[in-house]
Amino acid sequence: MTEHYDLLVLGGGSGGIATANRASRHGARCVLIEKGPLGGTCVNVGCVPKKLFWNAASMRQCAQTARDYGFAPLLGDFDWAAHKHARDAYIRRLNGRYAAGLADNGVTVIAGHGRFVDRRTVEVAGVHYQADHIVVATGSRPLVPDVPGAAWGLTSDGFFALHARPRKVAVVGGGYIAVELASVLRELGCEVSLVMRGAYPLKGFDPMLREGLMDAFCTAGIDLLPSRHVAGIDKPGTTLSLLYKDGETLSGLDTVLWAVGRIPNTDALGLDQAGLTPGTDGFIDTDLFQNTAVPGIYAIGDLTGRAALTPVAIAAGRRLADRLFNGEPDRRLDYDLIPTVVFTHPPIGSVGLSEPEAHERHGRDAVKVYHTRFAPMTQAFSQEPHRTAMKLVTVGREERVVGLHIIGEGADEILQGFAVALKMGATKKDLDDTLAIHPTSAEELVTMR
Ligand code: FAD
Ligand code: NDP
Repeated sequence: MTEHYDLLVLGGGSGGIATANRASRHGARCVLIEKGPLGGTCVNVGCVPKKLFWNAASMRQCAQTARDYGFAPLLGDFDWAAHKHARDAYIRRLNGRYAAGLADNGVTVIAGHGRFVDRRTVEVAGVHYQADHIVVATGSRPLVPDVPGAAWGLTSDGFFALHARPRKVAVVGGGYIAVELASVLRELGCEVSLVMRGAYPLKGFDPMLREGLMDAFCTAGIDLLPSRHVAGIDKPGTTLSLLYKDGETLSGLDTVLWAVGRIPNTDALGLDQAGLTPGTDGFIDTDLFQNTAVPGIYAIGDLTGRAALTPVAIAAGRRLADRLFNGEPDRRLDYDLIPTVVFTHPPIGSVGLSEPEAHERHGRDAVKVYHTRFAPMTQAFSQEPHRTAMKLVTVGREERVVGLHIIGEGADEILQGFAVALKMGATKKDLDDTLAIHPTSAEELVTMR
């Protein structure tokens, strides 16, 4: 039996759902195939549960600051199991909202694993679904390194499934997930070591942010272990040991968390049946319009190997739907100036070029940088205030702002508005001409000298 549609979307995560909903509103007959819970990585094992943990850690920090303001101690211990219960219930509600949204838009949802039969047909449990256009949006999954004892470790998926607080954790990696989970674990009372193969976390971010984060992590009591190359995990008794290539070990752990990157879900899709060959590391190559090498097959989101962020997957999918089903032939996502927040304590907000990237792209002489470092006013009564650092990277005589970086309280919420300004081509003078809002931390971005 074969059913025919205008659009078939493989994967019901951030990108896939957004594409199907938008296409359906443009009048396309859509089917979406999802093998797991609706919402994909972001909702179930990514942004959402992570942000709920981050909120919990923020509350603990706030309660500490509150003591400096004259409050009696506000919080008791963190009840991990109660938090998990509430978190799971919230995520189930979100799963339901996605299902309702798709139903409202008239999208047919099929539960199951989809696999290409040919370039127009995908099979799920023996049923064939055909479409004029097929969008592959199957996302990515955590990478587990190929070392002895690796299975003793958890990935971020396993972290969100934990029912109780771990006591002593080694987080291996230095990217977004490693620093976010290390930070949350520490704030919630665990002993944490951050085991990095490089000298710094967050490769590619502006040095001010990377160094600021290292300082803050040191102050928070995270054991920073740079230049460590992991050879495996051993379980000599009841605890785990992390083994390094130089023969050293890190012992007495109850949890090892792998946060060493993610791999695209492209290996079980029957791509060869559709004439598609994955590119580097299994990612699907597309042009800027999300076209793959096979006409009528498109790819969006994490599995394209571009900025692996929820709003990127959503925007790429919606624009693709506008192009295919709403007569907007030039509609596509512009991958420049993508704002991003790393949800650590303190949070990091970053958009545009880092200082070294600006030097490389525009030449050292064309780049002028402004920065500031200060203790935000919330810290006024603290003996050891958390500091905030901000940097503007400008280019040319007109001092166009090509990079804006913040580490410190509120960075997560401050960044969005400034990202609009950068997208509109703001210059340093535009920021200078904008009146400050006083007293805030954000005002420092329009008063820098
Ligand atoms: P996904 O959301 O992964 O969706 C892919 C879907 O396809 C999945 O539901 C999967 O089950 C399904 N699928 C796979 N194969 C098949 C098949 N053969 N048949 C049927 N279905 C299939 N991004 C942010 O912007 N902000 C954040 O704060 C943030 N935090 C994160 C925290 C963590 C711990 C992680 C892991 C990621 C985080 N991300 C964050 C990244 C974000 O989650 C991803 O960029 C986003 O989910 C990608 O969307 P997608 O549609 O490409 O893939
Ligand atoms: P990242 O690409 O951010 O980081 C991977 C890290 O793993 C790097 O530090 C890398 O080291 C390290 N690494 C890779 N291989 C090894 C190895 N064999 N041994 C030790 N370390 C290794 O990946 P993540 O998995 O952290 O996150 C995936 C993506 O999800 C992110 O890039 C981001 O786009 C998205 N995300 C976004 C979030 C947000 O918006 N707040 C939060 C979480 C995820 P090195 O630096 O030396 O290369």
